[in-house]
Amino acid sequence: MHKLPINSRGTARRAPTCRHSGLPFLILLLVLHSSCTTTPELGEGTLSGDVPTVRVAVARKVDGITLAVNSAVRIVDDATGEALFRLGASESHRIVPIAGGFKVGDAIVPAARVRVEPDKSGTVVIDGIAYRGRMRLISSQIGNRGFALTAVNIVNLEEYLCGVVGSEMPTRWPLDSLRAQAIAARTYAVYQLKTRPRAGDYDLTNGQECQVYTGLKKENDRVRRVVVETRGLILTHDWKVFQSYFHSTCGGGTVKAKDVFGDPDIRPLSGAKCTYCESSPAYSWSVTFKKDEIRKKLLERNIKVGPIEKIMALNSDHTGRAISLTIFTPPGPISIDAYRFRLAVGSMKIKGTRMTITDAGDSVTFTGKGFGHYLGMCQFGALGMAQANYNAAQILSHYYPGSELTRLYE
Ligand SMILES: [Zn+2]
Repeated sequence: MHKLPINSRGTARRAPTCRHSGLPFLILLLVLHSSCTTTPELGEGTLSGDVPTVRVAVARKVDGITLAVNSAVRIVDDATGEALFRLGASESHRIVPIAGGFKVGDAIVPAARVRVEPDKSGTVVIDGIAYRGRMRLISSQIGNRGFALTAVNIVNLEEYLCGVVGSEMPTRWPLDSLRAQAIAARTYAVYQLKTRPRAGDYDLTNGQECQVYTGLKKENDRVRRVVVETRGLILTHDWKVFQSYFHSTCGGGTVKAKDVFGDPDIRPLSGAKCTYCESSPAYSWSVTFKKDEIRKKLLERNIKVGPIEKIMALNSDHTGRAISLTIFTPPGPISIDAYRFRLAVGSMKIKGTRMTITDAGDSVTFTGKGFGHYLGMCQFGALGMAQANYNAAQILSHYYPGSELTRLYE
């Protein structure tokens, strides 16, 4: 690995042992590669110098999918490679899992694990979204509910990032914020590859619980450009990749990952001040719920609670982030983790846990700052820093203090 330490001013430099030296970070990145324009190689790679292959679940345990293709496609047995079904260029089929295989339209495909393999430049379209690479379909039995289908996109990491950057950040934002996003997302994916067992069916999911991935839907020239310019670059600390969380808006400062998810207490995830995200619509917010509605939502998540008399944030950290909430309810008060409460009541409405709570009789008003878990890079902060002419390395150095840029592969 080639290591690119970020110095105290936040500019990257090459380590003395590196073959290249003395060039500013972004000039180095302007060496163009064709990462988003080629189809990936077969084989699910490792992290040994080549571009790794990632396996992204794009449909999990669903009743069926609609498969369309824009070029000829083969469906092959995953174990043997034997072609079981062929689709012509403009065909579309409903695929439903059955015992030991799938129904494709009216035909039966007799293998519980198959790969959908397009022609060289073709894409696979699942439920209206086009994906690069190949698609593995898995039919599995779900208790006595019958069978479920999981679709896993097998795609190289650089092509995967082309589907993440525009899903996670508006592509009209300045290029340096997009470059920072590409590097943070690459780091996050590599961390998952390193830490998740390869024996599982996938390495990453496609939603907010991981990082949002929508295939070709949000890909454009700006996305391709920043992925190509940052090719192979990840963030490390003490030569190790770390979980490079990011979130929409911190509302004044990020927090220690150890305090939120119990992560190892390392400097890049120790929190940073942020004065750059005030342009975010979620910089400050307020939302009111009826107490009955809150109770209903908690009960739906199996959080047992009686009629709510009052909710208080009695346990907050020095940044104003509520750690736990106290709900006063017969027969006595209960304490609930604030993050869990937020997810249960609605994380798009209670946007973060840095909040105060005001009681108003039969309703409660939450007034807060920021959007997300407050860990790692603040995306609106990255926008603000880029608008203030900081480059991607400086943005990353600010939100992941003490981190280094490392080139995992050329
Ligand atoms: Zn911020």
